[in-house]
Amino acid sequence: MVSFKCKDIGMDCPFEAPAANVQELDNKIVKHAHDAHKIESLDKDMWMKIRKVEK
Ligand SMILES: [Zn+2]
Repeated sequence: MVSFKCKDIGMDCPFEAPAANVQELDNKIVKHAHDAHKIESLDKDMWMKIRKVEK
């Protein structure tokens, strides 16, 4: 299992996502970023931050 917390990348957001693997987690993060933060696509810097806090 892996998980991601939006607040770990500095967002003021209670979103937490558990997933079976990183690929599934990435999909959830992309969807959340779009739905909750209106981010159309995550850039390289954003992914670097996300990679550091995914665990
Ligand atoms: Zn969020």
